[in-house]
Amino acid sequence: MKIEVINTGTELLLGNTLNTHGAWFGRELFQLGLRISRQTTVPDGDAIRQTLEESISRADAVIVTGGLGPTSDDLTREITAQVIGLELISDESAMRSLEAFFAIRGRVMVDANRKQALCPVGADILPNPNGTAPGIYVPPRLNGRSNCAVFLLPGPPRELYPMYHAEVAPRLRALAGIESIHEALVLKFTGIGESDFHQGIDARLAAVPGLEYGYCAHIGEVDLRLIGSPAAIEAGREIALKSFAPFLISDDGASMEKTIVRLLKAKGMTFATAESCTGGLIANRITNVPGSSEVFTHGFVTYANEAKTGMLGVPAAEIKAHGAVSEVVARDMAEGALRESGACIAVSVTGIAGPGGGSEEKPVGTAWIGVATKGGLTETFRIFHPRNRKDFKLAASQSALEAVRRKLKAI
Ligand code: AMP
Ligand code: MG
Repeated sequence: MKIEVINTGTELLLGNTLNTHGAWFGRELFQLGLRISRQTTVPDGDAIRQTLEESISRADAVIVTGGLGPTSDDLTREITAQVIGLELISDESAMRSLEAFFAIRGRVMVDANRKQALCPVGADILPNPNGTAPGIYVPPRLNGRSNCAVFLLPGPPRELYPMYHAEVAPRLRALAGIESIHEALVLKFTGIGESDFHQGIDARLAAVPGLEYGYCAHIGEVDLRLIGSPAAIEAGREIALKSFAPFLISDDGASMEKTIVRLLKAKGMTFATAESCTGGLIANRITNVPGSSEVFTHGFVTYANEAKTGMLGVPAAEIKAHGAVSEVVARDMAEGALRESGACIAVSVTGIAGPGGGSEEKPVGTAWIGVATKGGLTETFRIFHPRNRKDFKLAASQSALEAVRRKLKAI
């Protein structure tokens, strides 16, 4: 089944709003075993006409987002009706929903809103409990030009997503006659590169019948994506784990930080951070995970030497003797964080993000990491990621979190 997505909105082409609908539809449709064959972004106004004509002539289903609002540049509804050759009439139930939407909020409905109740003759109104613009579904048989189904959906994500699940996905399933659903699995690895996979397991993955696989490299992380029947995916998973189990972050797509929160919860442990060059990024990543409050206690951001001394008790003389980016300071920061927070495990990072501040002995991109545990020996190690500041911070946070993950696995 060929599906095309048309995103309308001048703001998307000016770069003011990131077009997230394309990626979102890609993921959602994939879960139905469907894929987008083409995605087009057009400005508001009449520009949609030609794209819609082309898409309808090629595809089995076209999904249009945006342009259902009350203003003069919201023309999706009108132009679609013209392209398909159907008259627009006011839908009574849609008008009642619109009136109710405004009444409940104590707002006055202006005339411009009335056009939002217009619907091509014979098409379905898709209720919108979260906004004013109802969606519209034009079944293939109504479309005299071709045998293509057309969905018109509102732009705001909080309106679009629920409408898709309630109204669009079931219709797509019926249109496509979907029975067996393809699955996808993402295994996340760290400490190895794409080339290691290529050399190590590529040929064996290629030999699994019906398995589609691919790699995606991020900073400090490689995703292995497996697509196919449950049996093919399981075969691929076994091959990957046989060679690379020690490097596995998760085999259900969970992020590094989510994996750590899970491990901490499973072991009943609490966690604190002492960050210099990462500026709180590790704490930020951990606290992005829902439920992290059960395990995360303190995030010390000790950027200045005085902060390392004042908040974590790192001796000023030590910083003077070895420098803030040094093994001893990383050790004292981790142990200081452990002591001051009372947490079970603490990680520290101190490094040189650059572009200035490097030396021959400690070039830009150098960092020391410490991992301290209650009653255990503190571990320290040096990393080197000569990158721009942002990527360096991400790479350093990843190395620190990986050290924590390994420690937790070993405990
Ligand atoms: P609409 O009035 O239906 O065209 O949608 C308007 C709002 O929806 C905009 O302010 C955007 O914030 C959001 N929106 C529309 N299209 C997209 C898109 N492709 N990706 C992300 N947000 C979008
Ligand atoms: Mg718009």
